[in-house]
Amino acid sequence: MSTQPLPRAPGAVTTKPRETAMNTRKIYIETYGCQMNLADTELLIGLLKPHGYESTQTVQNADVILLNTCAIREHAEERVLKRLRELMYHKARHPGVRLGLTGCMAQHHRDSLLDKAPFLDLILGPDAYRTLPALLAQGDKDEPLVSVRLDRDETYADITPVRGEGIRAWVTIMRGCDKFCTFCIVPYVRGRERSVPLTALLDQVRVLADQGYKEVVYLGQTVNAYRDGEHDFADLLRQTAGIDGIERIRFTSPHPSDMSEHVIEAMATCAKVAPYLHLPLQSGSNSVLERMERGYTIEHYTALVERLRSAIPELSLSTDIIVGFPSEDEADFQATYDLMAEIRYDSAFMFKYSAREGTKAYKWEETVSEQEKGRRLQAIIALQERISGDVNQQAIGQTVDVLIEGPAKRPAGWLAGKNGQFKTVVFPGNGQQPGSVVPVRVISATAHTLIGEAFR
Ligand code: SAM
Ligand code: SF4
Repeated sequence: MSTQPLPRAPGAVTTKPRETAMNTRKIYIETYGCQMNLADTELLIGLLKPHGYESTQTVQNADVILLNTCAIREHAEERVLKRLRELMYHKARHPGVRLGLTGCMAQHHRDSLLDKAPFLDLILGPDAYRTLPALLAQGDKDEPLVSVRLDRDETYADITPVRGEGIRAWVTIMRGCDKFCTFCIVPYVRGRERSVPLTALLDQVRVLADQGYKEVVYLGQTVNAYRDGEHDFADLLRQTAGIDGIERIRFTSPHPSDMSEHVIEAMATCAKVAPYLHLPLQSGSNSVLERMERGYTIEHYTALVERLRSAIPELSLSTDIIVGFPSEDEADFQATYDLMAEIRYDSAFMFKYSAREGTKAYKWEETVSEQEKGRRLQAIIALQERISGDVNQQAIGQTVDVLIEGPAKRPAGWLAGKNGQFKTVVFPGNGQQPGSVVPVRVISATAHTLIGEAFR
């Protein structure tokens, strides 16, 4: 993270938030990072709605501007600091606008942010969102208002998020993480694992079905570790499958160690649970996995993949990989490359290791240069592109069920949606509506998209 302090906003004036017509105030939130952050943004808007706030898509209209941030990699934090500098000038030109930082980066840098960005009005960690309306009601102070207490019990189960339009609803079913992988900042910024009660989740999904959402995506850092004291994740999948109106159920991210037989059976037997699994591997070397403290070996992971593929033959698999972890040598990297080639994931998210202050691995010497990390990353990206392309070619000639999401980005007039394996399918539209499931014959494919023929 840059150590350059950001200057105080030039000419900033201290006033109360601007009041707009009908006494509603506008909030603009920019979201960085994962789906959980996007879901948290919907939660923040839900928290503010009863207090007379509504969301706006433009900074120019906003009375309150929040950056909802990610701390997973340094690069994500640098982007936020750059954006904060731009917004500092906007705030200077629009006195009365309140500028805040929420989420993981706010929690991670709660102390240094006071020096780096003294023009911030608010600094709010992921377990402190409830304090936002009260903090906004306080008016401007000379110092940022800081709320970063982690709370082992906070699940926001009683808050209704304000979701965007569409057919897919993200539902956070658990927060925090107890795994403490040595590279990862999540347990430090999101606190300990806790789950929303199953009855509250099912009630929420019934409302979503009534509102017309067709797909529910359950979210958690280790989503399959879900347990509310009485029920586990398999129970949640099975009971959600019984809700009329919901066509598809997905979830992310499961942890390989929590992938119980119970969950595999629920996936295999509930037709509504999509045959798609994001199963982070991180490394193909047992010694690296051990230093990462991932809690599984390659033998365990590959046996799990075999079991999943035999239980769910059409399963599409994706993964996360980190290259350049401290002491990853050429043989370790080659083991990752070879395992990716052997497993043949449908897709993968691949990252260069980024040392995160506060984690165990942060204290370890970085043995892989940035240049070498880049080389390793490019090698597995090229490998994965080839595999994704090959795997998608196999879909040519098949007819797939596409849940239509809306117009394709291009060509004009085409529609886009996802098949059950969470692959994007585009095809020439013929008046079909978002939310309907239609059979589409695949006639060509790229590494990222399946292309269908005109609908008959
Ligand atoms: N909980 C999930 C799991 O354990 O598999 C992953 C959640 S994490 C937010 C998403 C991904 O970010 C991880 O799977 C990992 O590949 C990547 N990641 C986390 N910390 C990282 C770091 N310090 N440097 C690079 N990538 C990192
Ligand atoms: Fe981070 Fe590991 Fe928890 Fe995933 S399981 S969120 S990688 S600590």
